[in-house]
Parts: sequence; C-alpha cells; structure tokens
Amino acid sequence: MLPHAMTVVSGSFCSQAFWDGQHHGHESPCWFCGNEVFPDFSHQAWNCPFWPDRPATPEDIAQYHLGWPSLSDSKYDHEVLLHLAAVRRALLEQRHPET
Ligand SMILES: [Zn+2]
Repeated sequence: MLPHAMTVVSGSFCSQAFWDGQHHGHESPCWFCGNEVFPDFSHQAWNCPFWPDRPATPEDIAQYHLGWPSLSDSKYDHEVLLHLAAVRRALLEQRHPET
C-alpha cells in the first residue's frame, strides 16, 4: 500500500476520467460502480457508492486531493490516506489487470 500512498501524497493520482482522456478519448462508465457518471477524482474517491465504508469527505482541500494530514485527528488522517491509496490501487488494477 505504501507505493500507492506515496503516489497519492505526491499528487500523481490519475483518475479514470484522466486515463480515459489520455488513452481512449472518451469517458466510460465508472469502473467501480458502473454508473454513467463522469469518473473523475471527486466521484471515485469521495462519491462513488463502491466505497460505502470510506471516511467522511475531508474539508481540508489538501487532504481531500492529496491525503495530506489535517493534523486535527490522526486516526481520521490515517483512514483518509489509506482510503485514497486503496482507490489508487483499484484504479491500477483496472488499467493493468495482468499486474
Ligand atoms: Zn463510481
């Protein structure tokens, strides 16, 4: 999980929407929930019903996008980073199912 967390905190997380735009030129349904939505970072990390047990959506913009700790609750900070790393890992598994 550490490589995924490092990708998240460094801002290198690529959403499905970004991937689709770069490699297919169109958006496909969300790989996780299958809904016809724009599968951007906000959907897949914070709104997708595929992740019902995710932590509450961060109010801190850096924590929302990068998983950086807000330093107000270390348990919550840890849960946010683990969640974003899990989403990133799942995205990679969809892009490269053989790995
Ligand atoms: Zn979804």
